[in-house]
Amino acid sequence: MPIDIGVLCLNVGTLFALHQAVTQGMPLISRVVTITGNGIAQSQNREVLFGTPIEALLQACGGATAEPAKLIMGGPMMGFALPSAEVPIVKISNCILVLGESQNEVMPLAGKTRNLTEHQASHQPCIRCGDCVSVCPAGLLPQQLYWFAKSGEHGKAEHHHLFDCIECGACAYVCPSKIPLVQYTARQRVKFGPNVVSREGRMLLVIGWRPAMRA
Ligand code: SF4
Ligand code: SF4
Repeated sequence: MPIDIGVLCLNVGTLFALHQAVTQGMPLISRVVTITGNGIAQSQNREVLFGTPIEALLQACGGATAEPAKLIMGGPMMGFALPSAEVPIVKISNCILVLGESQNEVMPLAGKTRNLTEHQASHQPCIRCGDCVSVCPAGLLPQQLYWFAKSGEHGKAEHHHLFDCIECGACAYVCPSKIPLVQYTARQRVKFGPNVVSREGRMLLVIGWRPAMRA
């Protein structure tokens, strides 16, 4: 990881927020959000105050062209499918992706959902092809973490470097069985408690998922 060699990777938005905080004493109260996808009338970049309901943001962009098939906070691979447009903009809301039916059909696994049920109903068993292993940039064994998540063996998952997962979504993207590997990983992290949950785990908590729920 970059931090291991003393390097920090920061995006433009974070650097701008740092600049405002250090030079002007300005707290972080807003961020630039990209609103796009084939389900929105006008794709735009807008500076949005935290707490703004996504519904208001969609209206400011001309509204949805039809009932969105899926709303995603973030990109198609690392983003989170939202339960409704009432969810507010928060610090990590870099993008709101509004998928119409046709785009959703092309990317059925886009956006991780807090509810595994729909994916569990549609995904196939792991065939041990190893594709997820070959694409993992962190050198992990995603299929093994999946098995540990299924069997509740959280200690073994930790031993297999569960917390090194950067939630890039590459493993789930290439999986021929369409297993939502990242969601299983994120849920497993939540089991370790609120202080160690991942970026996805925190978002799952924001949108209403609780550790007591069972996969
Ligand atoms: S989401 Fe995690 S386990 Fe999957 S490929 Fe990315 S780093 Fe590896
Ligand atoms: S890519 Fe999917 S099917 Fe292949 S080993 Fe990984 S989890 Fe199993």
